[in-house]
Amino acid sequence: MNILILGSGGREHSLAWAIAQNPKCDRLFVAPGNAGIAEMASCLPCDIEDGAAVVALAAEHNIDFVVIGPEAPLAAGVADDLREAGYLTFGPGRAAAQLEASKSFTKEICTACNAPTAAYRRFDDHNSAVEYMRQQDLPIVIKADGLAAGKGVTVVETMAAAETALAEIFGGAFGAAGAEVVIEAFLTGEEASFFVLSDGETAVPIGTAQDHKRALEGDKGPNTGGMGAYSPAPIMTDVVIDRTMEKIIRPTLTEMARRGTPFSGVLFAGLMIDDGNPSLVEYNTRFGDPECQTLMLRLGAQVLDLLLATAEGRLAEARPQWADDHALTVVLATNGYPGSYSKGSLISGLSDIIETPNTQVFHAGTSRDENGQLIASGGRVLAITARAETLSDAQDRAYEAVAKVDWPEGFFRRDIGWRALSK
Ligand code: AMP
Repeated sequence: MNILILGSGGREHSLAWAIAQNPKCDRLFVAPGNAGIAEMASCLPCDIEDGAAVVALAAEHNIDFVVIGPEAPLAAGVADDLREAGYLTFGPGRAAAQLEASKSFTKEICTACNAPTAAYRRFDDHNSAVEYMRQQDLPIVIKADGLAAGKGVTVVETMAAAETALAEIFGGAFGAAGAEVVIEAFLTGEEASFFVLSDGETAVPIGTAQDHKRALEGDKGPNTGGMGAYSPAPIMTDVVIDRTMEKIIRPTLTEMARRGTPFSGVLFAGLMIDDGNPSLVEYNTRFGDPECQTLMLRLGAQVLDLLLATAEGRLAEARPQWADDHALTVVLATNGYPGSYSKGSLISGLSDIIETPNTQVFHAGTSRDENGQLIASGGRVLAITARAETLSDAQDRAYEAVAKVDWPEGFFRRDIGWRALSK
């Protein structure tokens, strides 16, 4: 098969790495890709949120299967455009991608199917939101309704902070994503990420993970896209997984199908687990980055078969094979991230990392300068991922590889995995 992956992050590099190992994959294309992906696949420039451009690219390269990595093309309906043009595609259409693209839509679905989630109210005008806030207990959570690249959520502890957050959202800090606001009760417990493949009818769990969102050690500092992750998440025991499937995932998928918009793709549930009971914090309609890197390292070549079974509606036959192992990924980011940072610093030392099936360097914001040297071209730049029989060994292995990277302009957290390892 000729396969096209859309995206340019560490997530897409790890998807490409797993898919390329499957003998069904003949030629692999990634649009737009990055410098690491370019070493293993053909990278194609493309505006991946433009459905017509993606369909033209698929036609030009005789593509048999398209895998959509990030949320923006899903919310833009690129999966619908591809399917209408006859291309087998992994990823939900625009209507089902609303589960990520609109927080109030997800809340409505949870209410309709009785899935446990925080109590909430939605507002489309600033004054009523502020008035409501003044009567609430703190802390409370304020969320821009739409896609805000992980930055639209604030947990507020004071009224002053609440007013600032509302002023920002309604003031246009998130563009159209902030036209509506969801204000919801603060949930206590431990967070975990749960990934489920769905072909619209059958749902198959494909792993659990936990990530580290804050920029600094000890889970301090500003929120980021994710500074590291590990899989599995110890808190996601078989009992908790069964409860999540029964109370949250299956009811959601049934409700989506009942509305005539069945969900096909990967449903990533952000959960809060309190005393063994899961509540839904949010849905994403794609793999998490960097959680994906840990899942791909653990699953390997079978990923292509699973994604194909999802897209073709054959998940009832799918049986993911898991080794009893652990993976951990450490993100290296440019100094200054998630605030402002410079681009173009040289990165070396990667060739000293022995890439085995147990340790992989996945690239995110990398490119090559005019001399062909590897440079940083984004905030999150590398995700170094290792796998081992224990989480502790996976952590050692990942940090041994990180130590070989020579990049003075980058930083990373030294404590990825601490929560699980301290148990
Ligand atoms: P979201 O983008 O909705 O996942 O929110 C980002 C982060 O905000 C989550 O990973 C949680 O850490 C936190 N968060 C969101 N909603 C809540 C809630 N209702 N209670 C506590 N923390 C929350």
